[in-house]
Amino acid sequence: MDSKGNLIVISGFSGAGKGTVVKRLVEKYGYSLSVSATTRPPRPGEVDGREYFFKTTDEFRNMIDYNGFIEWAQYVENYYGTPRRFVEDELKKGSTVLLEIEVQGAKNVLAQYPDAILLFITTKDAETLKERLMSRGSETVEQVEKRIRRAAEEAKETDVYEYVVINDDLETCVEDVHAIITARSCERKRRAALLETLKSELQTFAGKGE
Ligand code: 5GP
Repeated sequence: MDSKGNLIVISGFSGAGKGTVVKRLVEKYGYSLSVSATTRPPRPGEVDGREYFFKTTDEFRNMIDYNGFIEWAQYVENYYGTPRRFVEDELKKGSTVLLEIEVQGAKNVLAQYPDAILLFITTKDAETLKERLMSRGSETVEQVEKRIRRAAEEAKETDVYEYVVINDDLETCVEDVHAIITARSCERKRRAALLETLKSELQTFAGKGE
């Protein structure tokens, strides 16, 4: 159990700033970030293989067919999926892997990885969310409206998440998420091998002292 990695699912309304939170977690704590595949066109500044692997619908369907995704979902009008290989390899190495995905994907991951930690990131209120989406300027008014409607739907499905973190101040939010991950990795059941070693070493010491 000790050497197995942690799978962390981070969801949140579009515009809640979860992308920024995740980037900061990677920079600051060296977590592994899974890069998703999507059929959505790149936003200005997005680089293929860094923010996403940008795919055509045919390429995406092909990946579904050969079981290349741990999960995939349709969000607004595009497909998004988590490539299987990277996540499985990183978990084997014992890394902490972050998935930034929406709620359907989160449920799907939990069904396959019951130990995954599910976190939901939100702004402190709906007004702030709307402002952030509008000021991003990367979506049309119509797309912003669709994302808000989707957020209203997602707000009904937050029961699946174990933790809810408010992103008002970025660094505070990053520290909160890091604290949750740290607490989880210190769970006694994850320290079983360490405790066994300690027990037997202490017994040896105690024996020598007699
Ligand atoms: P965006 O277009 O704003 O980058 O992402 C739209 C939504 O898709 C976000 O809620 C994001 O978390 C989610 N998303 C990104 N990658 C994946 C993925 O691989 N799987 C799923 N299920 N959702 C994803």
